[in-house]
Amino acid sequence: MSIEEIIEGLKPDEAWDFALRFFASDVKGAFDSVQRVMCIQPHPDDTDIAAGGTIAKLTNKGVTVVYVTLTDGRLGTTDPQMWPEKLAALRRKEQEEAARALGVKELVWLNCRDSELLPTLELRWALIRLIRKYKPDMIMTPDPWLTYEAHPDHRATGLLAAEATFFSPFPHSLPGGLEEGLSPHAPRYIAFYWTRKPNTFVDVTDYVDVKLEAVKSHKTQMGDSPAFEQLLRAYMRIMGKLANCRYAEAFKVLTPLHLHSNEFAEEI
Ligand SMILES: [Zn+2]
Repeated sequence: MSIEEIIEGLKPDEAWDFALRFFASDVKGAFDSVQRVMCIQPHPDDTDIAAGGTIAKLTNKGVTVVYVTLTDGRLGTTDPQMWPEKLAALRRKEQEEAARALGVKELVWLNCRDSELLPTLELRWALIRLIRKYKPDMIMTPDPWLTYEAHPDHRATGLLAAEATFFSPFPHSLPGGLEEGLSPHAPRYIAFYWTRKPNTFVDVTDYVDVKLEAVKSHKTQMGDSPAFEQLLRAYMRIMGKLANCRYAEAFKVLTPLHLHSNEFAEEI
Protein backbone atom coordinates (compact mmCIF):
# COMPACT_ATOMS: atom_id res chain seq x y z
CA MET A 1 0.00 0.00 0.00
CA SER A 2 1.38 3.44 -0.91
CA ILE A 3 1.61 6.26 1.66
CA GLU A 4 -1.08 8.14 -0.25
CA GLU A 5 -3.39 5.12 -0.03
CA ILE A 6 -2.85 4.96 3.75
CA ILE A 7 -3.63 8.68 4.05
CA GLU A 8 -6.72 8.24 1.85
CA GLY A 9 -8.43 6.18 4.55
CA LEU A 10 -7.71 8.65 7.38
CA LYS A 11 -9.75 11.57 8.75
CA PRO A 12 -8.02 15.00 8.46
CA ASP A 13 -6.70 15.06 12.05
CA GLU A 14 -5.61 11.43 11.76
CA ALA A 15 -3.73 12.28 8.56
CA TRP A 16 -1.91 15.14 10.31
CA ASP A 17 -1.04 12.86 13.26
CA PHE A 18 0.18 10.23 10.81
CA ALA A 19 2.65 12.76 9.36
CA LEU A 20 3.79 13.79 12.84
CA ARG A 21 4.36 10.16 13.85
CA PHE A 22 6.21 9.54 10.60
CA PHE A 23 8.66 12.41 11.22
CA ALA A 24 8.91 11.86 14.99
CA SER A 25 10.09 8.30 14.48
CA ASP A 26 13.35 9.77 13.10
CA VAL A 27 14.35 11.14 16.51
CA LYS A 28 13.37 8.24 18.78
CA GLY A 29 16.27 7.00 20.88
CA ALA A 30 18.58 9.77 19.63
CA PHE A 31 20.51 10.05 22.90
CA ASP A 32 20.99 6.27 23.08
CA SER A 33 22.77 6.04 19.75
CA VAL A 34 25.10 9.06 19.63
CA GLN A 35 28.88 8.66 19.93
CA ARG A 36 30.05 12.26 19.47
CA VAL A 37 28.18 15.36 20.64
CA MET A 38 29.08 18.99 19.94
CA CYS A 39 27.57 21.54 22.31
CA ILE A 40 27.46 24.95 20.62
CA GLN A 41 26.75 27.46 23.36
CA PRO A 42 26.49 31.26 23.54
CA HIS A 43 28.26 31.67 26.89
CA PRO A 44 30.50 29.71 29.23
CA ASP A 45 27.77 28.10 31.41
CA ASP A 46 24.70 27.58 29.22
CA THR A 47 25.21 23.88 28.44
CA ASP A 48 26.06 23.06 32.07
CA ILE A 49 22.91 24.78 33.37
CA ALA A 50 20.53 23.46 30.72
CA ALA A 51 21.96 20.02 30.08
CA GLY A 52 24.77 19.25 32.56
CA GLY A 53 23.09 16.04 33.74
CA THR A 54 22.74 14.78 30.19
CA ILE A 55 26.37 15.65 29.41
CA ALA A 56 27.60 13.75 32.50
CA LYS A 57 25.41 10.77 31.57
CA LEU A 58 26.76 10.75 28.01
CA THR A 59 30.45 11.04 28.92
CA ASN A 60 29.97 8.36 31.60
CA LYS A 61 29.06 5.88 28.89
CA GLY A 62 31.97 6.87 26.68
CA VAL A 63 30.39 9.49 24.42
CA THR A 64 32.87 12.18 23.30
CA VAL A 65 31.58 15.69 24.02
CA VAL A 66 33.08 18.93 22.65
CA TYR A 67 32.06 22.37 23.90
CA VAL A 68 32.13 25.26 21.42
CA THR A 69 31.60 28.60 23.16
CA LEU A 70 30.82 31.53 20.88
CA THR A 71 31.20 34.53 23.16
CA ASP A 72 33.64 35.38 25.96
CA GLY A 73 30.95 36.13 28.58
CA ARG A 74 32.52 39.50 29.42
CA LEU A 75 29.18 41.15 30.26
CA GLY A 76 27.91 38.57 32.73
CA THR A 77 28.09 40.66 35.89
CA THR A 78 26.15 43.30 37.80
CA ASP A 79 29.35 44.51 39.49
CA PRO A 80 30.54 47.82 37.97
CA GLN A 81 34.03 47.17 39.37
CA MET A 82 34.45 43.92 37.44
CA TRP A 83 36.49 44.65 34.33
CA PRO A 84 35.07 42.84 31.24
CA GLU A 85 38.43 41.36 30.14
CA LYS A 86 39.05 40.06 33.64
CA LEU A 87 35.57 38.52 33.76
CA ALA A 88 36.09 36.84 30.39
CA ALA A 89 39.32 35.23 31.66
CA LEU A 90 37.64 34.10 34.90
CA ARG A 91 34.70 32.60 33.05
CA ARG A 92 36.98 30.63 30.78
CA LYS A 93 38.60 29.05 33.84
CA GLU A 94 35.17 28.38 35.37
CA GLN A 95 33.98 26.65 32.20
CA GLU A 96 37.14 24.53 32.06
CA GLU A 97 36.55 23.41 35.65
CA ALA A 98 32.85 22.64 35.04
CA ALA A 99 33.67 20.72 31.86
CA ARG A 100 36.20 18.61 33.77
CA ALA A 101 33.53 17.70 36.34
CA LEU A 102 31.17 16.58 33.55
CA GLY A 103 33.81 14.55 31.68
CA VAL A 104 34.17 16.98 28.77
CA LYS A 105 37.78 17.02 27.55
CA GLU A 106 37.72 19.32 24.53
CA LEU A 107 36.75 23.00 24.56
CA VAL A 108 36.81 25.38 21.59
CA TRP A 109 36.54 29.16 22.08
CA LEU A 110 35.43 31.52 19.31
CA ASN A 111 35.84 34.59 21.59
CA CYS A 112 33.14 36.83 20.10
CA ARG A 113 32.13 39.78 22.25
CA ASP A 114 29.36 38.93 24.72
CA SER A 115 25.88 40.31 23.84
CA GLU A 116 26.94 41.41 20.33
CA LEU A 117 26.56 38.11 18.48
CA LEU A 118 24.97 38.15 15.04
CA PRO A 119 24.26 35.17 12.76
CA THR A 120 26.95 36.09 10.21
CA LEU A 121 28.21 34.04 7.29
CA GLU A 122 31.70 33.99 8.82
CA LEU A 123 30.40 32.37 12.01
CA ARG A 124 28.34 29.86 10.02
CA TRP A 125 31.55 28.92 8.18
CA ALA A 126 33.44 28.68 11.48
CA LEU A 127 30.86 26.21 12.81
CA ILE A 128 30.75 24.16 9.58
CA ARG A 129 34.54 23.95 9.85
CA LEU A 130 34.28 22.61 13.42
CA ILE A 131 31.48 20.16 12.53
CA ARG A 132 33.58 18.79 9.67
CA LYS A 133 36.65 18.55 11.92
CA TYR A 134 35.00 16.83 14.93
CA LYS A 135 32.26 14.95 13.00
CA PRO A 136 29.61 14.98 15.76
CA ASP A 137 26.47 12.94 15.29
CA MET A 138 24.51 15.32 17.52
CA ILE A 139 24.63 19.12 17.88
CA MET A 140 23.27 20.56 21.14
CA THR A 141 22.33 24.27 21.37
CA PRO A 142 19.67 26.69 22.71
CA ASP A 143 16.39 26.77 20.79
CA PRO A 144 16.58 30.06 18.81
CA TRP A 145 12.81 29.97 18.30
CA LEU A 146 12.02 30.20 22.01
CA THR A 147 9.28 32.81 22.11
CA TYR A 148 10.30 36.00 23.97
CA GLU A 149 14.01 35.11 24.04
CA ALA A 150 15.53 38.59 24.29
CA HIS A 151 19.21 37.63 24.44
CA PRO A 152 20.72 38.11 20.98
CA ASP A 153 23.58 35.69 21.70
CA HIS A 154 21.14 32.87 22.43
CA ARG A 155 19.07 33.53 19.32
CA ALA A 156 22.15 33.88 17.10
CA THR A 157 23.87 30.79 18.52
CA GLY A 158 20.85 28.55 18.00
CA LEU A 159 20.35 29.87 14.47
CA LEU A 160 24.03 29.49 13.55
CA ALA A 161 24.13 25.96 14.97
CA ALA A 162 21.02 25.00 13.00
CA GLU A 163 22.41 26.57 9.81
CA ALA A 164 25.76 24.82 10.20
CA THR A 165 24.03 21.49 10.92
CA PHE A 166 21.93 21.92 7.80
CA PHE A 167 24.71 23.11 5.47
CA SER A 168 27.70 21.04 6.61
CA PRO A 169 26.75 18.06 4.35
CA PHE A 170 26.72 20.29 1.27
CA PRO A 171 30.21 19.99 -0.27
CA HIS A 172 30.56 23.62 -1.33
CA SER A 173 29.01 25.26 1.76
CA LEU A 174 32.45 26.04 3.23
CA PRO A 175 34.66 28.04 0.87
CA GLY A 176 38.02 26.30 0.56
CA GLY A 177 36.88 23.46 2.84
CA LEU A 178 37.30 20.64 0.34
CA GLU A 179 40.83 21.82 -0.56
CA GLU A 180 41.71 21.75 3.15
CA GLY A 181 40.47 18.18 3.45
CA LEU A 182 37.38 19.18 5.45
CA SER A 183 34.95 16.81 3.81
CA PRO A 184 31.16 17.16 4.22
CA HIS A 185 29.72 15.77 7.42
CA ALA A 186 26.05 15.36 8.31
CA PRO A 187 25.16 15.36 12.04
CA ARG A 188 22.18 13.04 12.52
CA TYR A 189 20.46 15.15 15.18
CA ILE A 190 20.19 18.63 16.60
CA ALA A 191 18.99 18.85 20.22
CA PHE A 192 17.62 22.21 21.34
CA TYR A 193 17.41 23.03 25.06
CA TRP A 194 15.34 25.84 26.62
CA THR A 195 12.67 24.94 24.14
CA ARG A 196 8.91 25.52 24.15
CA LYS A 197 8.04 22.08 22.84
CA PRO A 198 10.34 19.37 24.17
CA ASN A 199 9.94 15.98 22.53
CA THR A 200 12.76 14.15 24.31
CA PHE A 201 13.49 13.81 28.02
CA VAL A 202 16.70 12.46 29.50
CA ASP A 203 16.49 10.87 32.95
CA VAL A 204 19.31 12.57 34.88
CA THR A 205 18.33 11.39 38.37
CA ASP A 206 21.78 9.82 38.92
CA TYR A 207 23.61 12.87 37.59
CA VAL A 208 21.97 15.75 39.48
CA ASP A 209 24.78 16.03 42.03
CA VAL A 210 27.57 16.15 39.46
CA LYS A 211 25.59 18.66 37.41
CA LEU A 212 25.11 20.95 40.42
CA GLU A 213 28.83 20.59 41.23
CA ALA A 214 29.66 21.68 37.68
CA VAL A 215 27.24 24.61 37.81
CA LYS A 216 28.87 25.73 41.08
CA SER A 217 32.14 26.17 39.17
CA HIS A 218 30.57 29.21 37.55
CA LYS A 219 31.24 31.32 40.62
CA THR A 220 31.03 34.68 38.83
CA GLN A 221 27.53 33.73 37.76
CA MET A 222 24.74 32.39 39.97
CA GLY A 223 26.59 29.10 40.28
CA ASP A 224 27.09 28.99 44.03
CA SER A 225 23.73 30.48 45.03
CA PRO A 226 21.45 28.10 47.01
CA ALA A 227 18.39 29.80 45.48
CA PHE A 228 19.67 29.06 41.98
CA GLU A 229 20.37 25.45 42.92
CA GLN A 230 16.78 25.12 44.16
CA LEU A 231 15.52 26.60 40.92
CA LEU A 232 17.53 24.11 38.88
CA ARG A 233 16.30 21.20 41.01
CA ALA A 234 12.69 22.35 40.65
CA TYR A 235 13.07 22.66 36.87
CA MET A 236 14.51 19.15 36.61
CA ARG A 237 11.74 17.82 38.86
CA ILE A 238 9.03 19.34 36.62
CA MET A 239 10.67 17.75 33.58
CA GLY A 240 10.99 14.52 35.55
CA LYS A 241 7.24 14.53 36.17
CA LEU A 242 6.64 14.91 32.44
CA ALA A 243 9.11 12.09 31.77
CA ASN A 244 7.86 9.83 34.55
CA CYS A 245 11.15 9.79 36.46
CA ARG A 246 12.67 11.77 39.36
CA TYR A 247 14.77 14.36 37.51
CA ALA A 248 14.99 15.01 33.79
CA GLU A 249 16.34 17.48 31.25
CA ALA A 250 14.22 18.39 28.24
CA PHE A 251 15.12 18.80 24.58
CA LYS A 252 13.52 19.25 21.23
CA VAL A 253 15.42 16.85 19.00
CA LEU A 254 15.18 17.24 15.23
CA THR A 255 17.07 15.89 12.23
CA PRO A 256 18.48 18.02 9.38
CA LEU A 257 15.45 16.91 7.34
CA HIS A 258 13.23 18.82 9.76
CA LEU A 259 15.26 22.03 9.49
CA HIS A 260 14.01 23.20 6.11
CA SER A 261 10.52 23.70 4.66
CA ASN A 262 8.96 21.27 7.10
CA GLU A 263 5.69 22.51 8.58
CA PHE A 264 5.48 19.48 10.86
CA ALA A 265 8.76 20.29 12.65
CA GLU A 266 7.11 22.57 15.21
CA GLU A 267 4.87 19.77 16.48
CA ILE A 268 7.26 16.85 16.23
ZN1 LIG B 1 23.82 32.35 27.93
